[in-house]
Amino acid sequence: MSAKIIDGKAIATDLRASVAEGVRELESAGGPTPGLATVLIGEDPASETYVRMKRKKSAEVGIESFAHELPADSSQEEVEALVEQLNADPKVHGILVQLPLPEGLDEESVLAKIDLNKDVDGFHPINIGRLAQKGREPAFVPATPAGCITLLKHAGADLDGANAVVLGRSNIVGMPVALLLIRENATVTVCHSHTQDLPGVCRSADVLVVAIGRAEMVRGDWIKPGAYVIDVGINRVDDPSRKRGYRLVGDVAFDEAVEVAEAITPVPGGVGPMTIATLLRNTLTAAERAR
Ligand code: NDP
Repeated sequence: MSAKIIDGKAIATDLRASVAEGVRELESAGGPTPGLATVLIGEDPASETYVRMKRKKSAEVGIESFAHELPADSSQEEVEALVEQLNADPKVHGILVQLPLPEGLDEESVLAKIDLNKDVDGFHPINIGRLAQKGREPAFVPATPAGCITLLKHAGADLDGANAVVLGRSNIVGMPVALLLIRENATVTVCHSHTQDLPGVCRSADVLVVAIGRAEMVRGDWIKPGAYVIDVGINRVDDPSRKRGYRLVGDVAFDEAVEVAEAITPVPGGVGPMTIATLLRNTLTAAERAR
């Protein structure tokens, strides 16, 4: 049996169209044009690409973006002063500080300076803390983890009571995904580099979310027949047959997993497009609230 392919590209396109519609409605009701400030520190090529993509997609849905670039040797005070300035700017509804920060900067301290109501990336320690607590609501939920849940729901996964396994416990993906799955009433196991019998734990999963950054590590025989598989990983592997010399693969061996799973995300075209679309949705929400 071949799994249903969860088309993140199409789902993200629909989500961006609904954001564009929301922007138009907000403006025609006399509200502000949503504004997203991007803060890029240093010259990491991957971070530069992500910020460029976020600004391009913002423009496409009518969100105004404000680019701020600081050198890699900026001081903590300079970075935090910029965040404070953006907090005070009424044209800015969302602030995105591109991670990771260059070495020497205190990431937690920078994120904690962001106005909670402009924290469209959802990484402010209070927003993450609220996500972890019952009965508390974060102002925003991080985009990639939220995108994973949207994809699972689109695919028809019944999360309530499901055995969910999350591979990876990073602050930006694994942990918030696990917290969101708990909120959906799944029973969640979080795995990491010290987990014993990883294949066995994965085989118990009705829902498997993988975010480890290891090319095709999760094999087909790690997957329970009928499971829903979300592959967050983005890895480059050499491929001389391609013009650019490499191709992108996920953390899951797709060709094997597709024969076992009920539904699975491809890489590229799965979780990736959802990240930006969800960030834009969060920015629109911030502008709607500001009004
Ligand atoms: P991190 O490197 O921050 O975290 C990786 C996690 O995986 C850690 O918890 C680590 O365990 C665990 N891990 C690593 N190797 C193994 C192993 N061999 N066995 C078991 N666990 C392991 O990565 P991120 O969470 O930032 O990213 C994960 C992947 O997702 C990357 O490929 C990244 O490119 C991709 N990504 C994709 C996004 C998208 O928009 N689609 C957005 C963000 C990330 P431990 O904690 O013990 O070290």
